[in-house]
Amino acid sequence: MIIDSVSGEKTSADILIQDGIIKEIGSGLTAEAGTEIVNLEGSYVSDGWVEAHTHVEWEGGQVGLDPERTYPADGITYVVDAGTDGPLNYEFVHNKLAALSIPGKSYLHVARYGSVRRGKELLEPELLDKEAFRAAYRDFRDEIIGVKIRIDPRVNADIVSTLRASRELADELELPLIIHPTQCPESLDLILSYMGKNDVYAHTYSGIAPCILDEKGIVRDCVWEARKRGVWFDLSHGSNNFTFEVDAKAMAQDFVVDTISTDLHSANILGAVKSMPETMSKMLYLGMSLEIIINKITEQTIRMLGLKDKTLGIKVGKKADLTAFRVESGCFSLIDSVKVSVSIDKRISTVATIFGDNLYLPRKTVFLK
Ligand SMILES: [Zn+2]
Repeated sequence: MIIDSVSGEKTSADILIQDGIIKEIGSGLTAEAGTEIVNLEGSYVSDGWVEAHTHVEWEGGQVGLDPERTYPADGITYVVDAGTDGPLNYEFVHNKLAALSIPGKSYLHVARYGSVRRGKELLEPELLDKEAFRAAYRDFRDEIIGVKIRIDPRVNADIVSTLRASRELADELELPLIIHPTQCPESLDLILSYMGKNDVYAHTYSGIAPCILDEKGIVRDCVWEARKRGVWFDLSHGSNNFTFEVDAKAMAQDFVVDTISTDLHSANILGAVKSMPETMSKMLYLGMSLEIIINKITEQTIRMLGLKDKTLGIKVGKKADLTAFRVESGCFSLIDSVKVSVSIDKRISTVATIFGDNLYLPRKTVFLK
């Protein structure tokens, strides 16, 4: 069943792919002897999924997973590193992206060594090095799509200075700003006041301050105002930043994330996050329709990231870029970042991913480096 990423329309058909290109779509197709048949009966096929927030590399593999054996197996055919490394160690991310069989982009962290090295991030003011950022951006202009910061008192010498400097850098280079807020003593009003059109607020359904909900559980005015200005709100699940409670309360007030991403890395692949299909299953559990979920990991994500090299639609003549998945019935459980567990009777799982002439099957284990 082919599901359209934009309209949600469904059509039952076979797809014939030759040399990585879609040759024919229709029922009862036949193929030459020796053609590999992937039986997708009972499955959906959509455009390949886009992962808007993950970490392909942590400076030489300190705590990394194996992106090539992880993402395509999870249905992903386009991956974005959410600013793991900074200008002085960016080649680790670049080399990892360049080695992938699927396309990838990255945000660049404003700290010289990004979010990992020596644990310092922006704890010393000179680690925010605009000249180094400009130079790295010049070198990797086709790959870097935005400016990343973490607004967390544990990794910043001064939060307001970080906000101000990264805003200046984003404006100067005409790049969006992606903000990861955690345990922040500053108000959400203040953080969002630095954000505008096409910037990305990560970890939207986090229960950790600054929560999008106020003490009474109401979505804060500044969140609605930011959305009106064109700020994107991304799920970016992560180890600590997704709770069923915040999600359910926000969705009950019609505040729904624009995009769905996992923030998957080696520290949460066996924990709360696990995979993209697992994250999508959480949204299904919370009442989001399958069609909307697919739209939020394809069309919406492409718009948020401004990707020019990914087009939608499963059409004859196009390079195969497909994810086949199933909605399984049974008795399963899901866990959020605060270890709340829920029982579900439907979950999303991948069946096959096809990108060009590569076929990837679902992974049955975790591939760490
Ligand atoms: Zn992240």
